[in-house]
Amino acid sequence: MTDLSPLDAAGVDAAVEAALAAFAAASTLDELKEARLAHTGDKAPLTLANRQIGGLEPSDKAAAGKAMGGARAAMGRALAARTAELEAERDARVLVEEAVDVTLPTSRQQPGARHPIETMQERMCDLFVSMGWEVAEGPEMEAEWFNFDALNFDPDHPAREMQDTFFIDPPSSGLLLRTHTSPVQVRAALERRDSLDEGRGIYVVCPGKTFRTDELDATHTPVFHQIEGLAIDKGLTMAHLKGTLDHFARALFGPDAITRLRPAFFPFTEPSAEMDLRCFVCGGDDAACRTCRGTGWIEWGGCGMTHPNVLRAAGIDPEKYTAFAFGMGIERTLMFRHNVTDMRDMVEGDVRFSQQFGMEI
Ligand SMILES: [Zn+2]
Repeated sequence: MTDLSPLDAAGVDAAVEAALAAFAAASTLDELKEARLAHTGDKAPLTLANRQIGGLEPSDKAAAGKAMGGARAAMGRALAARTAELEAERDARVLVEEAVDVTLPTSRQQPGARHPIETMQERMCDLFVSMGWEVAEGPEMEAEWFNFDALNFDPDHPAREMQDTFFIDPPSSGLLLRTHTSPVQVRAALERRDSLDEGRGIYVVCPGKTFRTDELDATHTPVFHQIEGLAIDKGLTMAHLKGTLDHFARALFGPDAITRLRPAFFPFTEPSAEMDLRCFVCGGDDAACRTCRGTGWIEWGGCGMTHPNVLRAAGIDPEKYTAFAFGMGIERTLMFRHNVTDMRDMVEGDVRFSQQFGMEI
């Protein structure tokens, strides 16, 4: 077979026709690629003919160039058109082949969720651990001495009444379900007295379950959670307490959070204070605010300087050391932080409630 001459108009036309026919016959993009290489590649007759133009007589170059240009343009158009068709066919086929049948049966197993009380408790503990405090835990069934006597409750204090406290039978056992996490403070102090001798101070947070003889309703539950903090060191004052609480509040409620202390009475602190949080929703500017009921402040917990009798019960000299303590309910914190209006939602174990809080880890 002799080479195609760029001046052979009939031959060029035939080569173009052959190329267009091959492109049209290609039924896949791969076949089209083969046809393209065969008719426009390095060894294709038209490619070889094109290379001859340089060797032609000057008078023939224009005609040959025009014929080859026309041939290349025709093949380019046909190639582009066929490529577009085959790509559209491929896309349509992929859509059909990879379609998802939404009527197929699926796994009905719901993913679980961590309970928000747990994640809130961890978040609170993490904050104090980041400041060098320790997390301390104690038994939920507690000796009456740790729960009341060591915390300076009078023998006839009303909190010791049967209607407030779950006592363990027989009464002579001296055991009860702890009514607050404060007994853990006494235990923690007793266990860590060496820290004081070594000049390190005692800084602990105590999270956990507590028990009171309340009926379950929208604002009460017989089992609830508290977190308490206790700091014992030389020279601690109410100012350290206030600074710690403000830092705690900012970590949970944002950089503008502040706390307020109101005089109060607890057996285990002197002086004692109720702690309020500046309403983080309205900032005190909205008389119709639902979070603070228009007061601008939210009751958050109790605090104070640890009573000397409590330090003595833990074998610590109150002339040498001072201490502050604070405590708050975790359910209560969750309720106003997340606008939970019914406490029963927190104890009924419905995963749909927990899932709303996300999977904070
Ligand atoms: Zn408010």
